[in-house]
Amino acid sequence: MRNAILAAVALTAGFSTTAIAEQHGMTVGVSWSNFQEERWKTDEAAIKAALEAAGAEYVSADAQSSSSKQLSDVESLIAQGVDALIILAQDTQAIGPAVEAAFNEGIPVIAYDRLIEDDRAFYLTFDNVEVGRMQARAVLEAAPEGNYVMIKGSPTDPNADFLRGGQQEVLQEAIDSGAITIVGEAYTDGWLPANAQRNMEQILTAQDNQIDAVVASNDGTAGGAVAALTAQGMDGIPVSGQDADHAALNRVAQGTQTVSVWKDSRELGREAGEIAVELASGTEMSAIEGAEEWTSPAGTTLWAKFLDPVPVTRENLDVVVDAGWIDQETLCQGV
Ligand code: BGC
Repeated sequence: MRNAILAAVALTAGFSTTAIAEQHGMTVGVSWSNFQEERWKTDEAAIKAALEAAGAEYVSADAQSSSSKQLSDVESLIAQGVDALIILAQDTQAIGPAVEAAFNEGIPVIAYDRLIEDDRAFYLTFDNVEVGRMQARAVLEAAPEGNYVMIKGSPTDPNADFLRGGQQEVLQEAIDSGAITIVGEAYTDGWLPANAQRNMEQILTAQDNQIDAVVASNDGTAGGAVAALTAQGMDGIPVSGQDADHAALNRVAQGTQTVSVWKDSRELGREAGEIAVELASGTEMSAIEGAEEWTSPAGTTLWAKFLDPVPVTRENLDVVVDAGWIDQETLCQGV
């Protein structure tokens, strides 16, 4: 709080945010929900680099998929005296009291990648509805007819329903015409691949393996679904994902996954680090470059910034290689 006031004075006096961060020994706390997911390590490296460049320190905690642990994680980050918080919420409802505690201390909060339904938090993410559209488009192109399975994300993560909404938009016409039928649909608790695999196995059994395509909401759940399909000798049917995880890009190269949606988390992480320092230095949310007012489906209007996702199929795998996301050798592993 003291830092925030001093920083605001310094900002008005014309000091740069980097100078302010260095001068006041700024610390930014990141609360991860499920750090075991491959992508968050890339996000973390980018956040750290941005903070280092701004002269700010990085501290973090991982809730290991527990919403109650995340509450105590945030409390402990606050107790460590952080000047800003970046929160990847495990459970959009349960995180409420932690966010409240931060605001009571005058600590700005970035809702990182996942929505926190509070207009005091800055929402930084990719266009998740568009990710869902991209997943469904690629699968529909590969399987214009047949029985579909929807493997959704975690029920406590609003992204799960944003994705599902985008997928539905694209599939609706084919559903209405009777070309495709959704025969199974399940949330994946904690986004855990093992849960996705179990759900997929159950749907395969219930449908006597009469499945033609799987719209899976991320690469982890796609991996679970593909494992279930492989056990039935059905690998190779269209499957979607997202995150451009290395294992998934290899499946795309091999033809066991149709599409992954690449969200350059190096960009998201860098933006988060920079915005955290700006907010802690007293910059208003409305003054963040690229910030727009956005209203959530539940009706909360807040400041948000959306980055653009990119679909990756076998045809354009060079996009991720050219961007240095994966090297050719790693991509060819197992092909
Ligand atoms: C993110 C995905 C990620 C998933 C599981 C979602 O909120 O947007 O990129 O795969 O969480 O960690």
